[in-house]
Amino acid sequence: MGLEHLIFPSGDLGCNTVLLWCDRTREGILLDPGGEPDEILAILADQGVALRAIALTHAHPDNLLAVPSLREETVCDVLLHKGDRQLWEEMDVLCKEFGFPVPDLGDVDEWLEEGIPLRFGKESISVLHLPGHSPGHCGFLVPSLHLALIGDACFASGAGRTDLPLGDAHAQDATLDRLSALPPDWTLLPGHGPSMSSAAIAKARTRTSTGL
Ligand SMILES: [Zn+2]
Repeated sequence: MGLEHLIFPSGDLGCNTVLLWCDRTREGILLDPGGEPDEILAILADQGVALRAIALTHAHPDNLLAVPSLREETVCDVLLHKGDRQLWEEMDVLCKEFGFPVPDLGDVDEWLEEGIPLRFGKESISVLHLPGHSPGHCGFLVPSLHLALIGDACFASGAGRTDLPLGDAHAQDATLDRLSALPPDWTLLPGHGPSMSSAAIAKARTRTSTGL
């Protein structure tokens, strides 16, 4: 009881989308809605959750294409780290390169910052700034679930790539060091694919993933 959550894939690249909510107030926060907004709205309705915010690990199209529709159908803020402002404003570049429709994103409502928790109802999660895959890439910690949502920083199959616009291999190294130091009994959920442990980061980082 307290903080509840659901994890499900969304969008063409099967982005791991996470809905977290407070079971006392039914207010929730959604992380990385990659697509399929109708399915996400159905999940919100099923659970009786009022969406208060969408928080993005980073500004790549495959983890945010449902944002415009969800904004139309709910009253929620969109949160992103300021480091990804340029990627957000130039979303058409990556969309064209990877064959996605260019979304009409509008403005970010609030900038994420490490040290400032995200609150919904009587619950909260914390923000980690994990640059490398993109300058403003963030992860989210849910201590009560022993769960770290690490976005595209690292996957079970390899480290997040740093060769996309504004990627930074040096910063990524420091990010992977931080993720390796998370408690051994925590579950790390990447932005795509299966979950992993912090101990698995060491092996994963010897390879680079190919996704977006
Ligand atoms: Zn990405």
